[in-house]
Amino acid sequence: MAERSEARGAFVWPPAQGRAGAPPAGRSVPSGGPGGGPRAEVRLAPPRPKGGALARWWRQIEATWLGVTRGTIEARAAALGWEADALSAFCPRCGRTSAPFEAGDGGCPACRSKRLPFDRLVRLGAYDEPLSGWVREVKFSRSHHAGVRVGELLGRQIGLAAAALGDGAPARFVLVPVPTPWRRRVARGIDHPAVLARAASHALNREGVPARVWRPLARAYRPMQTRSGGPARAGNVRGSMWVRRGGPLRRWLRRNDALSELRALPADELGSTVFVVIDDVTTTGATLREACRTLRRALKAGGIPIARLWAGVVAVTGERGG
Ligand SMILES: [Zn+2]
Repeated sequence: MAERSEARGAFVWPPAQGRAGAPPAGRSVPSGGPGGGPRAEVRLAPPRPKGGALARWWRQIEATWLGVTRGTIEARAAALGWEADALSAFCPRCGRTSAPFEAGDGGCPACRSKRLPFDRLVRLGAYDEPLSGWVREVKFSRSHHAGVRVGELLGRQIGLAAAALGDGAPARFVLVPVPTPWRRRVARGIDHPAVLARAASHALNREGVPARVWRPLARAYRPMQTRSGGPARAGNVRGSMWVRRGGPLRRWLRRNDALSELRALPADELGSTVFVVIDDVTTTGATLREACRTLRRALKAGGIPIARLWAGVVAVTGERGG
């Protein structure tokens, strides 16, 4: 077998068995946290023989052509010294990057006079590397691992934002993923907001904060948001979501669903429940706005008084609209 050339970027086909996922030369992934022990290269496990021959072939192509590094998100975060934003680094209302003491509970100069569909926004960071790369990995490489890890980080961040409220901290969270159109879910092979929401809810529960996922929303297929320009997005997404209405079987299967649980809660506990609409990225906020509007409708239809509504996103891009 040909020796893998050490020259950076050299193309060797087929990739050496067991090294398909290894980081390219010059981008070794150190083990341990920052300053923790000697920097040793993590030996990434050979690609698991999961899926059919086609799936294995595709992963080899990805590794060879796209240089997709498959170290864990934790290892890569540690290697890059990346951490989620401190809560003081962004406006608690709109999620824009803000200077220290520039933004308070009332918002930042950019959003203070604006009406927003949510009470606050929790984010992991701005849409920059490495976060933007992880988001793309979840969405376009169908990386369940990345989705779970990033979702857990988002859950932890939501937990921190809650803890920072002290006595006003929510008693429980209901995480509502922004719906993905059925057609796109099939094409991509992953419902990324749902993966993020589930992982976030697990992370919150592990930290003793009751949380669960509720998916009352559905969405029609429309052209991708990234292909529509800023002002076009709001129009493109308007009216694209609705509240799921199942038939008798679905209603029976879901008789113990979140809605029933919520209805059973005493009024004061319901009042301290925070609903969080979960998405990967927000740019103009058009998708979040539509999801929040539809969620309020779902709650109203379900006889649940409108409680506190937050947005939880992995990254905020383009510091433009709310
Ligand atoms: Zn703001």
